[in-house]
Amino acid sequence: MNGIVSLLKKFFGYTTFRPLQAEVIQRVLDKKDSLVLMPTGGGKSICYQLPAIYLPGTAIVVSPLIALMKDQVEGLIANGIPAAALNSMLPEEERQRIRQHCMQGKIKLLYVSPEKIASELDWLLSRMEISLIAIDEAHCVSHWGHDFRPEYTQLSILKKRFPDVPMIALTATADKVTRADILEQLQLKDPEIFISSFGRPNLSLTVHRGLNKKDKITAMVNFIRNHRGESGIVYCMKRSDTESIAEAFRGFNIKAIAYHAGLNPKDRETAQNEFINDRVDVVCATVAFGMGIDKSNVRWVIHYNMPGSIENYYQEIGRAGRDGLKSDTLLFYSLGDMILLRRFAEESGQNEVNLEKLNRMQRYCETDVCRRRILLNYFGEESEKDCGNCDVCKNPPQRFDGSVLVQKALSGILRTNEKVGMHMLIEILRGSGKADIMKLGYHNLKTYGAGADLPYKVWREYLYQMLHLGYIEIDYANDRTLKATPLGKKVLFGEVTAQLATYTEPEAFQKTEKKKRTKKEGEEKTRKAKAKPVRLIASGTQDEILMNALRQLRKGIAERENMPAYIIFSDASLADMVEKKPLTLDEFREVKGVGEAKLEKFGNVFIALIQFTLKVPENKN
Ligand code: ADP
Ligand code: ZN
Repeated sequence: MNGIVSLLKKFFGYTTFRPLQAEVIQRVLDKKDSLVLMPTGGGKSICYQLPAIYLPGTAIVVSPLIALMKDQVEGLIANGIPAAALNSMLPEEERQRIRQHCMQGKIKLLYVSPEKIASELDWLLSRMEISLIAIDEAHCVSHWGHDFRPEYTQLSILKKRFPDVPMIALTATADKVTRADILEQLQLKDPEIFISSFGRPNLSLTVHRGLNKKDKITAMVNFIRNHRGESGIVYCMKRSDTESIAEAFRGFNIKAIAYHAGLNPKDRETAQNEFINDRVDVVCATVAFGMGIDKSNVRWVIHYNMPGSIENYYQEIGRAGRDGLKSDTLLFYSLGDMILLRRFAEESGQNEVNLEKLNRMQRYCETDVCRRRILLNYFGEESEKDCGNCDVCKNPPQRFDGSVLVQKALSGILRTNEKVGMHMLIEILRGSGKADIMKLGYHNLKTYGAGADLPYKVWREYLYQMLHLGYIEIDYANDRTLKATPLGKKVLFGEVTAQLATYTEPEAFQKTEKKKRTKKEGEEKTRKAKAKPVRLIASGTQDEILMNALRQLRKGIAERENMPAYIIFSDASLADMVEKKPLTLDEFREVKGVGEAKLEKFGNVFIALIQFTLKVPENKN
């Protein structure tokens, strides 16, 4: 294994393995099959790339998307590892050249799209020395997942033709059905299954509920301003939202672009490239965006709507912080989302499964226990400790006796014969005097105005809690009207008390700079401290100046070399440069992610910039 560790440093610039990497690599070197389940960003690639470098011959890597292959090949070449991708997009002569190089043993890793496997089998693959076969995104063989690809089901041929070549299947999808499907379809021989922890402690988790579009935009703009110059994704359910939100952001001087499956392929590609190459900071996208994006410096993910399942949610937030650095995630959740998602689930072929998944997702949103524990439990991992990096952990709910509030709400519901929805109920409780209320005579009810002391959004929050706690329920089939439950009636008649969690203003939903100044200083200070975003480096310091300078240099080189910035160096490498401030090549070699190739190619310019920047006096901007 010693030789392997030195290759890890030489080619990838890392000195230690992540959990399970060493074990998986050993298994491949022993010529045995494995299935590797690791979360996004867990470090799957090195599990087959390192043995590929070490073993004689060429590794075949099956990968479902051309963009993914391109990314991997660029990354490998930047690290001085000969690699190529064979897919139907290439001109025939280019493919011919690659085939030749493979047969001459000049290529260590050959990426092949699944549909090309069959056609290359008899000629190329039988004529070259294959060191190992890696099946990336192996869950694509499974009908159960949302990424099913029919071409993947033909891959069983590989094991039949090359029974002695070690095969390694890799995926970030952990559920048992998919796992069994992969083993079955790929015909792995006595496979060892490696499952690493699905915990992603570097991702913060926050959920806000019940905000309307305008409030969500305000919250997002504040959030993004706290992440100035960093890349992030906003996931939306509707195509039209991706466009209107990107537009709204641009109005706030935020560089944003929309991406969805309805765009023509060229616009889609442009949007993707703008984001990958750091020319826009924000992409507002439907879930069509993401698979095949290996961008390691995505610093945050926002869900504008609630996803339909925890799997989807986890996969989507997983696109942030692949480099292991701190990243933020924020999810907005509303009744409107629930209603739409329920309809989708009911209309889907497998409505029971999908409704159950949706329920689990909803419970995650509404929980008042550590969110990460819920996620880990969902993926079958026990976790005994609270994480300290989710909104529930950071602001544990304060409880109070909310029986009177529940009684007011329930009396409103019952006095209107359970015919009103949440909005109307709040208007009644607040005695809003709106025309439709007058018309229906609701202003004559005893409950009219009984809750005028609480603002609209606070009532909304408490009604959500009442729903969650089972005091009221929503009749989805009946215009979303509210109903009193038996438990709710017990509160109404004073048989039991109801504990509610005190409403607190969501952190990201803070006033804009201008309004902030009108608040009292002291109050501001504590609020600001609470709302502090995770930043890689404290703002206003010399380190921040250096980090920005390094980012700029990386961007310049990336543009010149026509490749994504994160392939030149990850954010993790830049952060390590800021930490170590290397001034010689020997010191630069110690930086995370600096292997021989990058040392030689980029060492001197980065050192020169660090030297130059360090002369900038502190406090000078
Ligand atoms: P996955 O394919 O599992 O999503 P990657 O293979 O893309 O993850 O790895 C994610 C990030 O972690 C990459 O930036 C990679 O360079 C980095 N990485 C992988 N292994 C190590 C390691 N042993 N030490 C430090 N960083 C690593
Ligand atoms: Zn937590």
